Amino acid sequence: GAVPDITLNDGNKIPQLGFGVFQIEPKDTVAAVRAALEVGYRHIDTAEMYGNEKEVGEAIRTSEVSRDEVFITSKLNNGFHRPDDARKAFDSTLDALGFDHVDLFLIHWPLPTLYDGDFVSTWQTLIEFKREGRARSVGVSNFQVPHLERLAAETDLVPAVNQIEVHPYLTNEEVRRYDAEHGIATEAWSPLAQGAVLDDPVVTEIAERVGRTPAQVVLRWHVQRGDIVFPKSVTPKRIEENFQIFDFELDDEQVRRISGLDRGEAGRTGPQPDTFD
Ligand code: NAD
Repeated sequence: GAVPDITLNDGNKIPQLGFGVFQIEPKDTVAAVRAALEVGYRHIDTAEMYGNEKEVGEAIRTSEVSRDEVFITSKLNNGFHRPDDARKAFDSTLDALGFDHVDLFLIHWPLPTLYDGDFVSTWQTLIEFKREGRARSVGVSNFQVPHLERLAAETDLVPAVNQIEVHPYLTNEEVRRYDAEHGIATEAWSPLAQGAVLDDPVVTEIAERVGRTPAQVVLRWHVQRGDIVFPKSVTPKRIEENFQIFDFELDDEQVRRISGLDRGEAGRTGPQPDTFD
């Protein structure tokens, strides 16, 4: 089945399934991204922090796929929240990628204690990038409800997406609900909990029942909940497997059982966004 698009609150469309390149070494990135493009992925999620934007650009340029067919996301690195730093950092992102725009640019972390938590002026700077057309859409990552409420109170633009940690061990319902109620698309990072959910007995039992792999079942669970996902792998067979999730369905009971694996904060694998700086 084809990958559906999600329409963002600014009218732009994003493929619901993409390819994430966190922790892919620069030397392996061209091969991995090219493998993904060959399989049919048309959405790449990178970040300044990952150190592989240059290789993402190179992979696209040397592939059969044209730039305009690929949705590219990058993110502002931590420590560059002040407007002038953000402008320089964004210039470097476009430079490294070798393109005149990204499809989506995100504030990577709210860093609510750094610079007196002034991520609002950072957000105003991203709005500037959108006005210039150099970022077609802008959004945030790892924003908790109070951070989103502050943007709503102090600025005129609602983020197009909020990219947060979501997987069966951290279903993150409170933030997802706020996103949904305010027209913000949720992107689920570490959708497989970096592999940790793949041998859960509930997941493996459902996988056996539907004749799919545990990774496919977990990714299918995400897309049926409406979230955007971009699993990471450098293994061509897995890159291919993770793409084949639009030709089967989980029933409501299966979706509920996987959601029931939620461990709340104990299931979080990454930093806590309220305190991380
Ligand atoms: P993930 O949940 O996508 O897991 C990737 C790992 O799962 C792989 O390294 C491999 O070990 C395993 N795996 C993948 N496919 C498999 C398969 N079919 N069968 C068995 N094992 C498989 O983890 P991730 O890379 O952390 O998250 C995905 C993407 O999310 C990242 O690449 C990045 O783009 C994004 N991300 C964003 C943030 C953020 O702060 N915004 C943080 C982390 C990740």
